[in-house]
Amino acid sequence: MRAVAVYPRKQEVKLIERPEPRIASATEVRIRMLEVGVCGTDKELCAFVYGTPPPGSDHFILGHESLGEVCEVGRDVKDLQPGDLVVGSVRLPCHDAACEACRNGTQDFCSTGNHREHGIKSLDGFMADFVVEDRAWLHVVPQSLREVAVLVEPLTIAEKAVHEAVRVQSRLPWKASGPRALVLGAGAVGLLGALKLIQEGYQTYIYSLLPAPNPSAAIAQFIGATYISSREVPVDEMAVHLDHIDLVYEALGAAQLAFDVLERLAPNGVFVFTGVPRAESLQPFNTASVIANLVLKNQAILGIVNSGRQAFVDAIRDLGIFHARWPGVLEAMITGRFPMEQFLDPVTGRAGGIKNIIRIAT
Ligand SMILES: [Zn+2]
Ligand SMILES: [Zn+2]
Repeated sequence: MRAVAVYPRKQEVKLIERPEPRIASATEVRIRMLEVGVCGTDKELCAFVYGTPPPGSDHFILGHESLGEVCEVGRDVKDLQPGDLVVGSVRLPCHDAACEACRNGTQDFCSTGNHREHGIKSLDGFMADFVVEDRAWLHVVPQSLREVAVLVEPLTIAEKAVHEAVRVQSRLPWKASGPRALVLGAGAVGLLGALKLIQEGYQTYIYSLLPAPNPSAAIAQFIGATYISSREVPVDEMAVHLDHIDLVYEALGAAQLAFDVLERLAPNGVFVFTGVPRAESLQPFNTASVIANLVLKNQAILGIVNSGRQAFVDAIRDLGIFHARWPGVLEAMITGRFPMEQFLDPVTGRAGGIKNIIRIAT
């Protein structure tokens, strides 16, 4: 079968041939991969910034945003059948008996650092014709979401971020009426976050680099978010709006804007980082004033990494809700579909657009 493989030591990424994986235990499922989404993580893996092959291998298969179709199940798998659509978990637990997070199905909170991640850390990913996975790590998707279900995994970021932020803000002695959220970044993670925040009742602003008109701004307008370009409205002017923002959801590739907004976070506000900034792109900022604000304005800064079982369950449910509430919007986020042979266009960033997909089978 075909697979896209990363060789970190040789600094090579290429299409390879591999033997098809076979079911080796009664709880495993063989999956024909349909689509795999590409994101900033894949671009960094292909630039060899990080990425760890499985033990004993010099390469790993890329891809963590998956959609596949069941083609064979182990004899103990009673609730799946050939033709069912499934999305795989990315992060799998560590083996440490003392890791409460992993022992309780919340491996996104793993405390040992020995968790594994498909297509990123110590496990092969999904950018291959076939994958074998244990039933425990698969999430069933309704057939009605076939064309957009590759967005489930990136949506788990928004699910976890909003869930955690709401929990943090439950510390406030009142409940904000008409809460406001600011989304930083208008890529797929930003737009999916905006959908989730609007669904949760937030008046939502999206603050991103590019001036309108552009495809993300059009989506923002359609879903009822206010799109603001940082080129047209610099952060100092934006601060007028920021006074009333209860929640900032960061989903930027470049983080300087995030830190500029952080310095202007409203009293009692919560700021959720969903991405890791590239250190070389940051200017020094006034740490003392950020910490003074944290204390004197009761602010909270939160980092989140996706994602446990519940976030996948919530993402599949919400994807169905978004699909019905805003027809065509999820489809419009998928701006490019590429055959596996053309994987370099999306993984190098050459392709542009909001969300690019490798279409493996139809
Ligand atoms: Zn991703
Ligand atoms: Zn763990």
